[in-house]
Amino acid sequence: VKEEGKNSLQFFTFEMNELISRKSKIAMSIRKGLELGEFSVHYQPQIDIETEKIIGVEALVRWNHSKLGVISPAEFIPIAEENGMILYIGEFVLRTACQQNKNWQDAGVEPFRVAVNMSAKQFSQSNIAEVITRALKDADLAPEFLELELTESIIQKATAAISKMHELKKMGIHLSIDDFGTGYSSLSYLKLFPIDTLKIDQHFTRNIHSDAKDAALVDTIIQMARNLELNVIAEGVETVEQLAFLKNKRCHQAQGYYFHKPLMPEQIEELYLKI
Ligand code: C2E
Ligand code: CA
Ligand code: CA
Ligand code: CA
Repeated sequence: VKEEGKNSLQFFTFEMNELISRKSKIAMSIRKGLELGEFSVHYQPQIDIETEKIIGVEALVRWNHSKLGVISPAEFIPIAEENGMILYIGEFVLRTACQQNKNWQDAGVEPFRVAVNMSAKQFSQSNIAEVITRALKDADLAPEFLELELTESIIQKATAAISKMHELKKMGIHLSIDDFGTGYSSLSYLKLFPIDTLKIDQHFTRNIHSDAKDAALVDTIIQMARNLELNVIAEGVETVEQLAFLKNKRCHQAQGYYFHKPLMPEQIEELYLKI
């Protein structure tokens, strides 16, 4: 038993080293990656279920690392949150997304919103409203064409977050709750906070046709949102059956691989904007 314990300890340590070195490689190369232009922003269309027209896009960051290749944001965002680099990544995405949306408007397409993900650390910056104002000003984009996706973890950090949300809301910026239903927040925040949109998490959407409880939850979230006069969008829509369910339940919008994966700006232009 003692021998075995020793071996598994060594194995564990080896694996941990592998993990730690990749993690610290990532942590240490974010700043340089930003300087070298290794980061870019892709855009996933958000579709009005009734008209099947594009009503917005979600900005999603991409990183093509010079040595490690393409790294998923699911991997590097948590690392960047830990070491604070999320502030720089977040501002890069914000500024790029505002500028891109303004470019599309200048090209004459019907204006739509660009949704930008906000990490908790980014939103807790004391000057976040200024950072956002500056990004809008520099891009010359009207605030109504920017949406911020906030998670329930941000909202849990209550008091400071509430006044920031009101400040941003007053500027005309839209606010949505991302991954709705996966946190542990109380529903009462839906009354307290100036939210425009609920985004149904993709885990619920995925199981609409395999899990009756997930279907019931999706149905309930849609009806609750409608009763509260909130906009509701389902993410992770992959099949025509899921879309039909959402349409039947009168969900306003949908986003997912059924329509398109996150796309490069040129692909958005080709497929949706005809410019
Ligand atoms: P999220 O905000 O929940 O974004 C949705 C994720 O689901 C994206 O993954 C998107 O590509 C993926 N997705 C969209 N439609 C489908 C579908 O139909 N099926 C499946 N299986 N997946 C779908 P992505 O781009 O890898 O991003 C992962 C997460 O990383 C995001 O989850 C978000 O939490 C974070 N993230 C991405 N970009 C940013 C950013 O600019 N800032 C911050 N703070 N976080 C970001
Ligand atoms: Ca999101
Ligand atoms: Ca989400
Ligand atoms: Ca998510």
